[in-house]
Amino acid sequence: MAKPDPASVACEHLVTDNPVPFPFDVEMVLDGVSGFTDAIVRCKSCGQAYLIEMLDWWGARFQRRTFRTSLLANDVVAQYAHNRQRGSCDVKRASAEWHAVQTQAKLTPLRITLDLDTSQQIESRVLPSDADIPMGHWRERLT
Ligand SMILES: [Zn+2]
Repeated sequence: MAKPDPASVACEHLVTDNPVPFPFDVEMVLDGVSGFTDAIVRCKSCGQAYLIEMLDWWGARFQRRTFRTSLLANDVVAQYAHNRQRGSCDVKRASAEWHAVQTQAKLTPLRITLDLDTSQQIESRVLPSDADIPMGHWRERLT
């Protein structure tokens, strides 16, 4: 569990009240089952990069998914993309590179709910500053 960093505020474009088409572009899928579960995305309006990581899923095809969101600096994304493109057959190095992204991601209080079947963001919720956000990977929590 972790509390959101009060200094890390998600951009207003990802705060939505009604279902809208994804307000972001998916830049890199990091993990997925029938669609992404962990991804680096970028706001379509302002270009802010985010790490989104699945908290929970439900629905007939597990298409409805909630995600915690973390801010990512552009240089962190660029470095990671560069490393990934270069390809790493060294599993240890690949996981070290991924770990570096995670440690530089700044957890925000914004939790988003997506429907992967319709490519919509169903809702968003700004959690209270004392909220405990599960930080474990979903594969450890849900399976
Ligand atoms: Zn934005």
